[in-house]
Amino acid sequence: MNFDYDLFVIGAGSGGVRASRVSAAHGARVAVAEEHKVGGTCVIRGCVPKKLLVYGAHFAEDLQDARRFGWEVPECSFNWVTLRDNVLSEVDRLEGLYTQTLDNHHVEVVKQRATVTGPNGIRLADGRDVTAKTILIATGARPVVPTFPGAEHGITSNEAFHLEAVPKRIVIAGAGYIANEFAGIFHQFGSHVTVVNRSDVLLRSYDAQIRDRLLQISVTKGIDFRFNVTFERIEKNGDGTLTVHMNGCDPIEADAVMYAIGRQPNIEGLGLETAEVETDSHGAVVVNADNQSSCDSIYAIGDVTNRVQLTPVAIREGQAFAETVFGNNPTRVDYGCIPSAVFSHPPLAGVGMTESQARDTLGTVKTFVSDFRAMKNVLAGRNERSLYKLVVDGETDRVVGIHMIGPDAPEILQAAAIAVKAGLTKAQFDEVVALHPTMAEELVLMR
Ligand code: FAD
Ligand code: NDP
Repeated sequence: MNFDYDLFVIGAGSGGVRASRVSAAHGARVAVAEEHKVGGTCVIRGCVPKKLLVYGAHFAEDLQDARRFGWEVPECSFNWVTLRDNVLSEVDRLEGLYTQTLDNHHVEVVKQRATVTGPNGIRLADGRDVTAKTILIATGARPVVPTFPGAEHGITSNEAFHLEAVPKRIVIAGAGYIANEFAGIFHQFGSHVTVVNRSDVLLRSYDAQIRDRLLQISVTKGIDFRFNVTFERIEKNGDGTLTVHMNGCDPIEADAVMYAIGRQPNIEGLGLETAEVETDSHGAVVVNADNQSSCDSIYAIGDVTNRVQLTPVAIREGQAFAETVFGNNPTRVDYGCIPSAVFSHPPLAGVGMTESQARDTLGTVKTFVSDFRAMKNVLAGRNERSLYKLVVDGETDRVVGIHMIGPDAPEILQAAAIAVKAGLTKAQFDEVVALHPTMAEELVLMR
């Protein structure tokens, strides 16, 4: 049978762009549909603009600290609109670059919504029907928005990048990645931030000691936390402010409420049932280790499969798909030891097993902790302590986890993750001479 394309990708995000261009490089005739902007969540309204806001937020403390380092810093004020617009134009520039990359690889970019009409059928929003030998679902995920009365008055991270002004008071629902990153951002820009979570745990997947340190530092900075609290309703007042009513704590007056309570796979109205593509109870497309769904000609990668919702993972899955299906090079993603970070203030990062995971899994576990004040913070008079932790298998001496919070923790952890992935032992860490004076030297000095 003749198809219009060898591969039709739905969604030009992190995973879809990589899969499209590598498949095309292997000689496939490829089209990719994008209903919003090429680049997807990470580039348009995720990692990239978020990190730029984190950089912007850091200046609040850096400008204060500079005085202790001898700089005459005059009274400074922050202009949100300048930062917002600079970030948005950088995002536009990146969208252009991603589109150009696809063009250069002869991938046809279809700038509209696409849905599945059968194992090889796709319908475009303009009504056109096209066919493809293989279809790749790379539609990503979107923020979960709750359904209590008045929930429509809240925003999500999507809207946070476009705000007219920094809210004076913001309530953030959830205590995961997005909640802690935006709590830091808004706090540094001068908002009063209250983080509200349904349980008493923040950043559940991270090491308990590291997340306790983030909580302690955040509270000291002035961020409020309410734990074991659920939302009841939000009232919009005549002056535009909001009153947030909750179970488990008194009402809070705010200028904005932001939901950061997880992200759900984008499968609504996608027509997956026309090809009998199986989805799970979270709405994620179920795939095997080769990213193939229950329909042989349809594959899925990235957040829509709800495995690990991180950009580098979506990219690896896109690459593995392209290599396997079009490159005659069967490739599977290794999900072991994926490093991750939260760009909070200060940031934290981790790889491998947390202490409690190690204690549940291994016979004997040793931990090594360095609890220190970064040299820069000491001179700045900033009473903020960093914490680094090595989790070691007591029987093999292998370092099975590294967890850290402190300045530049994600930058340092990326390199340290190589050692954990390679299975190096604590003795091998100890053999490495320290690079002084750095914060990272703590990793080879813990005894
Ligand atoms: P996406 O990048 O979401 O791309 C899916 C694309 O499909 C979208 O462009 C969408 O418009 C399009 N689409 C959906 N349905 C259709 C359709 N029917 N037709 C046509 N197009 C469609 N990850 C990190 O690793 N590090 C970070 O620092 C980080 N920060 C983040 C910060 C925020 C605020 C958010 C929300 C996420 C962050 N993430 C981060 C997660 C990361 O953005 C995602 O894991 C990643 O983008 C997933 O890639 P994807 O290809 O699966 O989907
Ligand atoms: P997270 O999964 O990180 O956190 C969700 C938070 O919301 C948790 O505190 C959870 O509470 C709470 N929650 C979950 N479901 C509900 C519900 N139905 N009602 C009320 N509260 C709820 O999600 P985020 O939205 O912060 O981020 C989504 C994903 O995006 C992340 O998991 C991550 O994969 C990715 N991301 C990565 C970033 C990075 O790499 N730096 C940055 C931003 C996002 P509890 O734990 O108590 O159940």
